[in-house]
Amino acid sequence: MKYYSLNQKSPKVHFKEATIKGQAPDKGLYFPETLPRLEKSWVDDIGNKNNETIAFDVIQPYVGSDIPEDQLRRIVGETINFPIPLVKINDNIFSLELFHGPTLAFKDIGARFMSRCLGYFAKERSEKITVLVATSGDTGGAVANGFYEVDGVDVVILYPSGKVSSVQEKQLTTLGKNIHALEVKGSFDDCQRMVKQAFADETLTQKRLLTSANSINVARWLPQQFYYFFAYKQWGEKENPPVFCVPSGNFGNICAGMLAHITGLPAAHFIAACNTNDVVPRYLHSGEYQVKPAVPTISNAMDVGDPSNFVRVLQLFGHHYVSLQEKLSGYTITDTETKATIKRVKQDTGYLPDPHGAVAYLSLERYLEQHPHQKGIFLETAHPVKFYDVVEPVTGEKIAIPPSIESILQRPKHSTVIEADYPSLKKNLLQY
Ligand SMILES: *Cc1c(COP(=O)(O)O)cnc(C)c1O
Repeated sequence: MKYYSLNQKSPKVHFKEATIKGQAPDKGLYFPETLPRLEKSWVDDIGNKNNETIAFDVIQPYVGSDIPEDQLRRIVGETINFPIPLVKINDNIFSLELFHGPTLAFKDIGARFMSRCLGYFAKERSEKITVLVATSGDTGGAVANGFYEVDGVDVVILYPSGKVSSVQEKQLTTLGKNIHALEVKGSFDDCQRMVKQAFADETLTQKRLLTSANSINVARWLPQQFYYFFAYKQWGEKENPPVFCVPSGNFGNICAGMLAHITGLPAAHFIAACNTNDVVPRYLHSGEYQVKPAVPTISNAMDVGDPSNFVRVLQLFGHHYVSLQEKLSGYTITDTETKATIKRVKQDTGYLPDPHGAVAYLSLERYLEQHPHQKGIFLETAHPVKFYDVVEPVTGEKIAIPPSIESILQRPKHSTVIEADYPSLKKNLLQY
């Protein structure tokens, strides 16, 4: 399988190079040259396959011969070594729980797959690879955990001092070894700007092989298809395929679901559930695509004003607006509605969604009101305890802390505080 740049100005590359580079030299996103097709018989038989087989069969065409079969099976097995259950909430709505991984968010799946692929590629070469990533919270934890103790790979994470939750900060700063946390005296935008400067600085990139681990990397994007298939495997009414409702920020997750659908996954429809950072829902209503600066909300992992992966969604539909609209709807949910939904769902069903899941739950409910013969799945992308400061005051109940998080909270924080300017970052990068 080869990948081309959506900006069309860089040479095509194989999976290995796309994973190491992250982004094409022309700054475009890599996109698979051909889309594999899953046989109908394969899909019909999904109930008889184990998750490792499903995931391997889905990803293998994208990896090609860059990773041998036994290694790819190992990588896939390590990626999904926790449960991904489909939980019934009421007659029409189900929750796909993606938060049973080590950092309690769905990003674990993409980060674990990517880290192991990169680890495999690093072994083949003498040069160390440095993963450089800016985080506003969840990405950093998943990346840190995913890459922890992966040989040949150093991870440098920039995060805005005082602006990530205490749990998130612990997930970034307590691992040590090959994981380095830089605490930036500035905002998330500062962190992102500094990372971009590093990638553009040839005097640095000649000395260090840098790559990013954000959701534009194909090795993070593509494995997110896995759990859409696991959901369908657990879906009772195979003749009435589910609507998938995805809480969306950078649109990597929903784009993986739509890719899965185009290549064979049965799905009735997709819903992009957004908070007030709703450039895509507005586009789906008006046809006008207007990016704006991100505004802070209580579902903060979706506070994205200019979603980087949406261009891949457009590409999947050949930039054909009407076909896209037939498959994708968008909803905008305010913070007030999110809180009311958390409270109501807990009261009515006993299920406690996190703020991102609540945005998706309400979007799905609204869609199903208009489509009463359909049923749907919302992706529960994080454990509510990650957002206890939002959720607990709404329900008035404490959320039990899972043991995996409890042990992290006891560990000491190790970070290097740096100024919000590029020279400070560069000086640090050259030390590793
Ligand atoms: C990152 C994140 C999202 C958004 O996912 P995208 O792939 O960026 O659209 C939603 N929920 C949670 C909890 C996240 O961490």
